[in-house]
Amino acid sequence: MRGTMMDFPLTIQPILERAGKLFPAVEIVSRQPDRSLKSTTYGEIYLRSRRLARALELAGMARGDRVATLMWNHSAHLEAYLGVPVSGGVLHSLNLRLHPDELAYIANHARDRYLIVDDVLLPVYESFRANANFERVFVVPFSGGKIPRAHENYEDFLSAADDEFVYPLLEENEAAAMCFTSGTTGKAKGVVYSHRALVLHSLTQSLTDCFGISHNDVLLPASSMFHANGWGLPFTATMVGAKLVLPGPHVDAESLLDLIEGEKVTLACAVPTVWFGVLAALEKYPGRWKIANPVRIICGGSAVPESLLRGLDRFGFHITHLWGMTETAPLATTGLIKSTLAHCTEDDKYKIRAKQGVPAPFVELRVMGAQGEAPWDGATSGELEVRGPWIAATYFEAPETADRWTADGWFRTGDVATIDNEGYVKILDRSKDLIKSGGEWISSVDLENALMCHPGVREAAVIGVAHPKWQERPLAVIVAKEGVSVQPEELREFLATKFAKWQLPDAFVFATEIPRTSVGKFLKTKLREQYANWNWGR
Ligand code: ADP
Repeated sequence: MRGTMMDFPLTIQPILERAGKLFPAVEIVSRQPDRSLKSTTYGEIYLRSRRLARALELAGMARGDRVATLMWNHSAHLEAYLGVPVSGGVLHSLNLRLHPDELAYIANHARDRYLIVDDVLLPVYESFRANANFERVFVVPFSGGKIPRAHENYEDFLSAADDEFVYPLLEENEAAAMCFTSGTTGKAKGVVYSHRALVLHSLTQSLTDCFGISHNDVLLPASSMFHANGWGLPFTATMVGAKLVLPGPHVDAESLLDLIEGEKVTLACAVPTVWFGVLAALEKYPGRWKIANPVRIICGGSAVPESLLRGLDRFGFHITHLWGMTETAPLATTGLIKSTLAHCTEDDKYKIRAKQGVPAPFVELRVMGAQGEAPWDGATSGELEVRGPWIAATYFEAPETADRWTADGWFRTGDVATIDNEGYVKILDRSKDLIKSGGEWISSVDLENALMCHPGVREAAVIGVAHPKWQERPLAVIVAKEGVSVQPEELREFLATKFAKWQLPDAFVFATEIPRTSVGKFLKTKLREQYANWNWGR
């Protein structure tokens, strides 16, 4: 017997429509290139997204055509996030920090037809223009300056359209957006999100037990809108009508803290390196920012060390840890403390919060060890596999990657993890980052997290470096806190209380910074190159 409910497609259209009808007065604040703040509303975004949809239609955009963006986080990018998919197009946000060759490769591989680019990012576009194939390029006057004559002005493109936009009837499994993996490892691969996946992802993301994004939030997505589907936040925020505060190009710690204070932000999202910077600024300038409310932070993309959780708690910033990937839209786990664990000591709760959390509803996880599926015992490790309604089932036109999926339909994440008896996932490493020493594995993440608990350490990255006897041995790259001097011996002793002797790094080198990926993660491939010829005899 079939249910008697309506077969109502899950698409982005009702998300935009509802925001336009119910939340027209809710503000969206964007930081401009000159640092001033520009305010608009969901009412305006509604009109302009539909205008964009109509303009693209008149420009001949067909269903499934890709519209690329090369933009910072600001209101026009939100318009594209909404306007492109509601008209049947596919929003493809390009990572503006990539090398020109990679940008050209990605835009060509995706067969992007149109590009919307911020005027301040024209130099990035120019850097790969010769190798790209956009039919039309629209330049957003983000800085308020004149658009060079050679280019089409995005505002003119919008004004030339009429208000006749009618939502096309979309199927929920049609493509809405696409994003390429940020390329921390290997060549970038495309993930195409369906309308249905994004709607279900938004509904889940807004749950109190996940990100808890509600209409009453003031949300600051400091994670880039070009990283991992903008973390799904543009859709979820619009769905619930949360006030948005978009940082534009100013994503340094002090600018973010100014926004958090000035706009009374209640929820902010970014990778851990952003929050290392925020913590350092809060410690450096005590009392400078008056943060009225506790600020909830959603943090993931790489492991969140316990020291960061504790450090930010002291200033009223409460981190919820998440694990996710471009391939998982990205929400897969969140650091919910279960009611049955509420009795745990504060110390134990920090240990739980430093794990990557429990799977979100509808996301299924398993760890595949050498002996098959690992028990949930918190000890048996293996590759983490995932499946669910917003998990990629293939990469975009990349048949050579088919082995990333198992025969029974799970996605192989490339992360090595354990799951404990309460369902908490602990990521030990990316499989490529695990350090293989004398036939044993050492988790670089565990060492990094422990090192970052040392009071003199601001950041630490640990890599495996080839060793004549042990195959690989760990080397730690340390950024000390400003004005603090730390000695290798002291760090060794500090770690020796938590790790076996063979797991301790054999070398500690001091640096002023750790190289970052295009989305702000530690760039371990670069470190491995840098220290490839390390002389262990020294
Ligand atoms: P890239 O692989 O290029 O970095 P993604 O941003 O999609 O692109 O990265 C997903 C990967 O980031 C995961 O497979 C995992 O290795 C890492 N990651 C994400 N969240 C966490 C987390 N909370 N803890 C540890 N690693 C994480």
